[in-house]
Amino acid sequence: MSSDSKMMARDYHKALAPFFGSDEIGSWVNGAMMPGRGDMFDLIDPATGKAFLTLKDAGADVVDAAMQAASAGQKVWWGMTAAERGRIMWRIGQQVRDHLDQLALLETVTAGKPIRDTKVEVLKVAEMFEYYAGWADKLHGDVIPVPTSHLNYTRPEPYGVVTQITPWNAPIFTAGWQLAPALCTGNAAVLKPSEMTPLTSLALGVLSKKAGLPDGVITVLTGLGATTGVAATTHDVTRKVVFVGSPRTGAIIAAQAAQNIVPCVLELGGKSANIVFGDADLKRAVLGAQAAIFSGAGQSCVAGSRLLVQRNVMDRFLDMLVDGANRIPVGDPMDSATQIGPINNDAQYQTVRRLVAAGQKEGAELLAGGVRPEGCEEGYFLRPTVLGNVRNDMAIAREEIFGPVVSVIPFDDEAEAVAIANDSKFGLAGAVWTQSVDRAHRVAANVRAGTFWINSYKTINVMSPFGGFGASGYGRSSGKEGLMEYMQPKSVWTETAANPPAAFGYAPE
Ligand code: NAD
Repeated sequence: MSSDSKMMARDYHKALAPFFGSDEIGSWVNGAMMPGRGDMFDLIDPATGKAFLTLKDAGADVVDAAMQAASAGQKVWWGMTAAERGRIMWRIGQQVRDHLDQLALLETVTAGKPIRDTKVEVLKVAEMFEYYAGWADKLHGDVIPVPTSHLNYTRPEPYGVVTQITPWNAPIFTAGWQLAPALCTGNAAVLKPSEMTPLTSLALGVLSKKAGLPDGVITVLTGLGATTGVAATTHDVTRKVVFVGSPRTGAIIAAQAAQNIVPCVLELGGKSANIVFGDADLKRAVLGAQAAIFSGAGQSCVAGSRLLVQRNVMDRFLDMLVDGANRIPVGDPMDSATQIGPINNDAQYQTVRRLVAAGQKEGAELLAGGVRPEGCEEGYFLRPTVLGNVRNDMAIAREEIFGPVVSVIPFDDEAEAVAIANDSKFGLAGAVWTQSVDRAHRVAANVRAGTFWINSYKTINVMSPFGGFGASGYGRSSGKEGLMEYMQPKSVWTETAANPPAAFGYAPE
């Protein structure tokens, strides 16, 4: 069995101090903290279930002030040379690297993610700014050989102010992921992180000022979705909305934005199929299956929550999977040995437990987990949970569970595996484990998903495009495809003929 860790003492002050000093934490507006004007709300430590900080919702007036500052900041930013923008972005990446330990501590203490994960995620944020810093002076249009005497060229232009809404499962990661391409293309970004996890996004605002970013180019709004989020996404100054979160909220936000003819990118949830064939290297596949669903306590949009296993190796594979699940250390996210920390919040914890119980009622078999780990009497902890005998029509195979719970579904052959994988409204990610090269590529081609792994799981990088098919959303983040979402091409026509033929109207003799 596992050695679950006991909780260390929490030092919130130590985590907050490097970024916030004695200032009241509000929203990051025009290069400074601006206090909220709305209702108070608590930040809860997921490892204890107790409030550790009270904040004020920004509210519509703060949003309005933020939008005006962002609009002014964007003009300054777009007025700079592309090379200068790139240098400042590179320096933001350096600031993130220089504050790696402090940012990881802040994320872990306040959002409950294991410290081993937050250190990796913070480094990825530095990479995002560095990668897009390099793109800043390489974005240019085309000269188009139009069949007239015109010189026709395109200019990639920013939208202006882009509003970004992010979730609680990977707060600093999703913030950097969207801020960097928005800035690279000359936009100002107004980011509203989840009300449950705003602190590391605010810290990015603070660090960007240290890197020399003009005021107003990054805004971070602290507040609730129904008030601050709505005010930001529907504000006249918002010219594009990029949303990372649940399909339900994504649909609402896209409808809100449509009222102002504002386009959206939607990065939503998933119910990804991780397919293990009998000819796979099963030891590697079982490690991959654990990482796919249990890392981040399953709170990952690409989590491999449906594990499809070929029937001829099912018993052997399940033995290995259950053994792994029972040994993974769960507990204090501050402990560097911890692989699974708490679920982020009580509502999500209750959802996960309800779905596990519903699965058992529908006939799924609880093979591991389903209980609190030892030593974690408070907070939102769950041991990694394996449900066997799952059918693809059960609720646990259809709804995004967003917790450390894997549903194991048997299949007989390739056609059945692909059919089960595609029998989902989602299409975010998927994977296949096999030693057959031709099968690997066939399955990769036939599964409907924005990201697919062969003999691997969960590797993503800012250089490669990411996004969903179907109910997992539309638009792309990362890579050059991610940049395109933040630019709109302008077509410029210049007459070059000495005496262009007049096709219409009369000129004086
Ligand atoms: P959520 O949809 O509940 O909330 C996301 C954000 O939307 C929060 O900041 C919230 O305050 C805000 N919000 C809520 N209502 C709003 C409104 N009407 N107007 C404006 N903003 C509003 O999502 P969550 O529970 O925080 O996050 C979990 C979800 O995020 C999961 O479904 C997960 O799969 C998804 N996710 C997707 C990706 C991806 O890239 N595809 C990445 C991470 C998380």
